[in-house]
Formats: sequence, structure tokens, C-alpha cells
Amino acid sequence: MKRHVIYLDNAATTRTAPEAVEAMLPYFSEQYGNPSSIYSVGCAAKEAVIKARETIASTLGAKTNEIYFTGGGSEADNWALVGVAEAYAEKGKHIITSKIEHHAVLHTCQYLEKRGYEVTYLDVDENGIVKPEEVERAIRPDTILISVMFANNEIGTLQPVREIGEIAKRHKTLFHTDAVQAYGHVPIRVDELHIDLLSASGHKFHGPKGIGFLYLRAGVKMRAFLHGGQQERGRRAGTENVPGIVGLGRAAQLAFSRMEENGAREKELRDYLIGRMEKEVPYCRLNGDRERRLSNNVNFSFRFVEGESLLIMLDMKGICASSGSACTSGSLDPSHVLLAIGLPHEIAHGSLRLTVSAENTREEMDETVDAVKEIVAKLRDMSPLYEDFQKGKSAPERI
Ligand SMILES: *Cc1c(COP(=O)(O)O)cnc(C)c1O
Repeated sequence: MKRHVIYLDNAATTRTAPEAVEAMLPYFSEQYGNPSSIYSVGCAAKEAVIKARETIASTLGAKTNEIYFTGGGSEADNWALVGVAEAYAEKGKHIITSKIEHHAVLHTCQYLEKRGYEVTYLDVDENGIVKPEEVERAIRPDTILISVMFANNEIGTLQPVREIGEIAKRHKTLFHTDAVQAYGHVPIRVDELHIDLLSASGHKFHGPKGIGFLYLRAGVKMRAFLHGGQQERGRRAGTENVPGIVGLGRAAQLAFSRMEENGAREKELRDYLIGRMEKEVPYCRLNGDRERRLSNNVNFSFRFVEGESLLIMLDMKGICASSGSACTSGSLDPSHVLLAIGLPHEIAHGSLRLTVSAENTREEMDETVDAVKEIVAKLRDMSPLYEDFQKGKSAPERI
């Protein structure tokens, strides 16, 4: 019998909605034409791409010619930063970002630093929120771009995007937001929020992997990302990923039509999980802001616990979760986000991210808390630090 898996890693990726899969299928088989061709098989593909572009544009209050399909969120982030940096190099070479961005933004900033650009990495407060006044203070005459994420992927904090957008506008600087965790989960209107560029990714809102988009406000100068054919208004060459684009459009349509209902359900599961965890697991700490937080995100640190061991033991119980350390990169460095909110190394190491979807159930939350309780107790029993702490050798320290 197949074991029941409790999937609580929806910030890493989501299950593709069956409706999105179904919408994609004809574009692998009978409608396999190239959208650039003039015969009818190609026309059907072309129309499907146009329709998906219209759907995406309407979700943001944008124009269709402001949506550029990309190979996902990382590509959109890379393009936004490098494309603007190159196009505006004559105006200046200064970029402002935050310390808690996704690596797709942070590593691109480092790449630009090696090529003569200067980057200011803003601190965040203890809840992981960027202070708009610090954004404003960091602006210089040579600042060309502010890039601050919409919602953080680890601790779920929602950033003051509107305030930052207003500041950018007032100072005539461009504003990019990595909205990969937010798009399809919270309403976003690019005009009201003064967003000039926005990145999103299909697989974070029940769409397919390897497809996303960049919103680029009309009139903003931009370097082409891929050179070749005339696809994506000559800025991102290559035959369109038609099935992916169709799936992305369908997933966006579903996400926006179910946003309120799904958000409410996620929030209920999230708050139930947080409530039980805080009541029943000693020495734990909720990371991130309680209110200004994505409806699907839970992030806890447990003292005297090693995050990797916790994850492995959860996996043995069929629970998929994620930790605060970058184990995938082969390093055991604690998360840059948890360090940026001021957690000491050893506490940042004992962190657990659980991200729900509307597909999860309350029973699964119960099973998860029970499992975490048991595993945390077991790991602490093996910890010499915890033993010392219990004997009162080290001063109790609240986290
Ligand atoms: C997942 C994620 C990305 C990368 O998106 P991909 O489509 O996986 O390349 C970028 N930024 C944030 C905030 C993310 O959560």
C-alpha cells in the first residue's frame, strides 16, 4: 500500500492542479504547432499563448504587452536585475535590495557587483520586514533599481511593497519585486503598488515547473535576455513553451478565482498549527511576523534541536517539510534569512518550515504536531546541551 504523504512544503513547490494539466495536454499532442508558423496548427498554439498572456495581465491590472514568459522565477529575477542594470548603466550603477531576498536575487546582485555595480543590502527588523524609511535613506543619485521581495519564502513575511513603490516613484527609481511566493496567493495591482517589474513562477501556485513570467512596465528600458528570434517582443528568444504557458495561465485563473476561499482555509490550518505548536512544544519560537504573513507559512525554531535531524525523522513519518539551513547546497550554513532577523547560529539551525496548501487537512496538522512533539523530545534527550540546560548549568534563555 502506498503510504500517505503529508505534504507541507508548498513554498518549495506545489502540486500541479489537475485542471492545469488537462489544459496543457492538447498542446503536447494534436496542437503541437509552433506559434510562429502561419498554418492552422501553429495558429491554435499562438492563440493559446495570447490567451494565457491576457489572463496573466488581467490578474495584475497590467497590459498584455507588459508580460514576458520566462523559464521560471529565477530567470525572471536574473533578467530583471541584469536587464535593468545594463540598460541604465549610464544613469548609475547602484542597486538597493534586502538581506532576505531569494538567492536568485542575491546571487545576481553578487554577479553584478563583480561587474562594477554597487549594491546596498538592507537590514530587516526582528520579524523580517524591510523598513521603508531605510529604503529611502539608501537612495542615491546613481540608484537605478530597488529590488525587494513581496513575501519571503522562508518566514512568509509580507513586505511594505506599496510604501517602497511610492518611494521609488518619488525618487524616479525603478522598483522590482520578486513576487514568486505572493503571486496567486495575495491580490497584486501593479499600478496601485507602483511596481515596475515583477517576477512570478508557475509551480508556486499549482502551475507547472519551468515556466514563469516577468511583468515589465511599458516604457521601462530593458536589455534582451536571450538573443535569437522575435519571441516575447524580441527580448526573450526561443520557441515558446506552449504547454507550460497554457498551464501557467490556467493555474493563474484558478488561483485568482479561489484566492479568498483558499487563503481562508490555509490561514485556518496555519493558525491551528501555530497554536498547537506553541502550546505543546516547549522552547519553540515562531519566526516571522504574526500578522503580516503569508496565509500558508509556518516557521519555527526549536532550541537544542538540529533541523536536519528533525527533517529526516519527519520524512520517516511521511511528512515533507523544509529547514532553515541550506542543506541542498551541500553547506550546513544556517539560513541567511534567519540570521538576518537576528537568530543566533545554533537556534537558526534548529528551524522548521511548514507551508500548507488548501489541499491539506486538520487531521494532517494534528499528525504533524504529534510527530514534531515526539521527535523534538527524542532529539533533546540525546542533546548534551539540553541535559546541561535541564540541570540548570546554563542560564535559561528565552527565545
Ligand atoms: C521559488 C522561488 C524563486 C525561484 O523560482 P523558480 O521558478 O523555482 O526558479 C524565486 N524567488 C522566490 C521568492 C521563490 O520562492
